[in-house]
Amino acid sequence: MDSQPDQELHVIFIPYPSPGHMIPMVDTARLFAKHGANVTIITTHANASTFQKAIDSDFNCGYHIRTQVVPFPAAHVGLPDGAENIKDGTSIQMLGKLVQGISMLKDQIEPLIQDMKPDCLVTDMFYPWTVDFAAKLGIPRLYYYSSSYFSTCATYFIRKHKPQQRLVSDTHKFIIPGLPQTIEMTPLQLEPWLRTKTVATGYLDAVYEAESKSYGALYNNFYELESDYEKLYKSTIGIKSWSVGPVSAWVNKDDETKANRGHKEDLAQESEWLNWLNSKQNESVVYVSFGSLTRLPHTQIIEIAHGLESSGHDFIWVIRKKDGDEDGHSFLQEFEQRMKVSNKGFIIWNWAPQLLILDHPAIGGIVTHCGWNTILESVNAGLPMVTWPMYAEQFYNEKLLVDVLKIGVPVGSKENMLWVTIDEDETVGRENIAKAIVQLMGREESKEMRRRARKFGDASKKSIEEGGSSYNNLMQLLDELKSLKMSRALEKK
Ligand code: UDP
Repeated sequence: MDSQPDQELHVIFIPYPSPGHMIPMVDTARLFAKHGANVTIITTHANASTFQKAIDSDFNCGYHIRTQVVPFPAAHVGLPDGAENIKDGTSIQMLGKLVQGISMLKDQIEPLIQDMKPDCLVTDMFYPWTVDFAAKLGIPRLYYYSSSYFSTCATYFIRKHKPQQRLVSDTHKFIIPGLPQTIEMTPLQLEPWLRTKTVATGYLDAVYEAESKSYGALYNNFYELESDYEKLYKSTIGIKSWSVGPVSAWVNKDDETKANRGHKEDLAQESEWLNWLNSKQNESVVYVSFGSLTRLPHTQIIEIAHGLESSGHDFIWVIRKKDGDEDGHSFLQEFEQRMKVSNKGFIIWNWAPQLLILDHPAIGGIVTHCGWNTILESVNAGLPMVTWPMYAEQFYNEKLLVDVLKIGVPVGSKENMLWVTIDEDETVGRENIAKAIVQLMGREESKEMRRRARKFGDASKKSIEEGGSSYNNLMQLLDELKSLKMSRALEKK
């Protein structure tokens, strides 16, 4: 903060508009600013409104951070005003329009960056075009990825060796090649674009090519969690990487920022869930969340409700409403009422203050779709998990939790499918759900897993303290970027 403007490092962050991508990148941008960088975040209006409060507050504390808004071409792609984020995609058609609108932002962003003359671009994995653009400007591009090294390594070796193609059935198991451990999965658990060549396959090829051409990668992760896979990543992809997480715990220290982080729709419920959790014994409640995007079919909701009830454990469950699902709404209203009377469960509609909930002493475990941010936030809180992967790289994350870190109980999820394509009859049954929760929450059954989860929680918290691995990585990266800036300035003279 005390550096001269011309010596100050100017870093532009371009987050992808989906909560699981945007939340950690904004947190990382705030960390850069808190450690002396001049930061600009480029996004669209509706997306900026979900985090602007935190940026204003940092700015008012004297940090050099601001948001640069560009208009979203909603009308152009046939979307209603304000639909600017992947989480607004309730059908495959709408998702297509959102992706199209997001790809059109490039034409507005490029001239802006050119004018701003930054020293570095930190851009989401899904903006492969930024690598050539950064090269044209003569500045480094950092590839931003908020997920596991394990998932990147697994994807790399599966793309390279295609072990799934040697099987006669989609449900037979193959061993993921190239990994230091024997990890099995089935072709059905792979992302659809890996199973069949689609438009997405070509796009993802461009993403990975741009990754390998980047100056380095920034991971929302900490070294102690997956050191073997971090080393493997560096040697296989062949670029530098910095683990600087968990960024959410690092930058959101007080309850207000924790509560306001990300998207928040329903303030009124706040004291209610807190009072409810306060009335529960330590480590007695399971938190159930499927992330920011998933809306489950009615048949699956029914199975979860019965599974939770018959597990006998108290629960707090975040449910995203599905438009037009009237049967589902009336079933859930009745269920919610019954849970209120028995005091066994609490439902939060649409959006939960997840960081606050996970840190509450009454929470003893989580049922998760294996989105990386939720995993890392749970790890930081020292919690074991029931793993219920659904799409993207979540099945790899499940393998990491269950087979490598041994802090996860699998619910038995079989097929990798986007939330908008999950079918009414593709459900995980109530018995499997109840069984996994009993294994997670039972004192004896989960003893060893709980001990390991606590150990990772301690390591996570240490990594972001002064002198910790993630702390040191961020400081080292900022120094390196400053040296690059100086070298460029000298070359110009
Ligand atoms: N999140 C939240 N409240 C919710 C749902 C999600 O705060 O009700 C946050 C969660 O803490 C995490 C992010 O949204 O930081 C979701 O990212 P994740 O990688 O877990 O899953 P995704 O939503 O990308 O599938």
